[in-house]
Amino acid sequence: MFFDKTKIKTKVVGITGGIGSGKSAIANYIQTKGIPVYISDVEAKKVMDFPDVVEKIIFLLGKEITDKSNNIDRKKLAEVVFNDADKLKQLNSIVHPEVKKHYENWLQENNNNPFVVKETAILFESGSYKDCAIIINITAPLETRIQRVIERDKTTKEKVLSRIKNQITDEERNSKSTFVVENVDLELAKNKIDEILKTLSIQ
Ligand code: ATP
Repeated sequence: MFFDKTKIKTKVVGITGGIGSGKSAIANYIQTKGIPVYISDVEAKKVMDFPDVVEKIIFLLGKEITDKSNNIDRKKLAEVVFNDADKLKQLNSIVHPEVKKHYENWLQENNNNPFVVKETAILFESGSYKDCAIIINITAPLETRIQRVIERDKTTKEKVLSRIKNQITDEERNSKSTFVVENVDLELAKNKIDEILKTLSIQ
């Protein structure tokens, strides 16, 4: 599908935040209100199962990266790319443009909605903040974020910290965002989101 930016009437609300801030929890909450929400991580996983994308990944990393059903084995993939910055870069150069295309199709399909939401950790890093009318940064104290991710991903503090180091800081995200919502008590954060949606006349 040809993507013509000028034909997009819907306003995009970008939701971002550091790892473990709870941006997916907030995006899921907004989705329950009937607002179209694109959760980039979830969609990227689907895109990686598209046959032409699988083919490109196999070409880059070899058949060893697949499981018995010829799908990409996520665990093997993670092991390879997280120990090889060059391979990770090449994998991203395959996956990111495909997710971008997929998102643009989704945007066109939802063009009759006054507002849609895009949730992504790399809103600023990817440049997609430029297409957002409003940006909400979700925050939580560093220690809280680390503990949440250790529990969710069954990982170590060191590994979480090394992922955080690769992201921009909250100060940077806050300064470029329209709203900042602290997500410590989830109910309070949801109330804040309700207020924002009301202010924007979305709900
Ligand atoms: P990532 O960048 O890794 O995708 P995220 O910002 O999307 O992270 P979530 O996956 O939404 O974060 O939340 C991280 C974990 O913390 C999840 O297990 C989620 O259920 C939990 N969580 C989110 N918000 C809260 C909260 N306010 N109180 C307690 N737990 C929370």
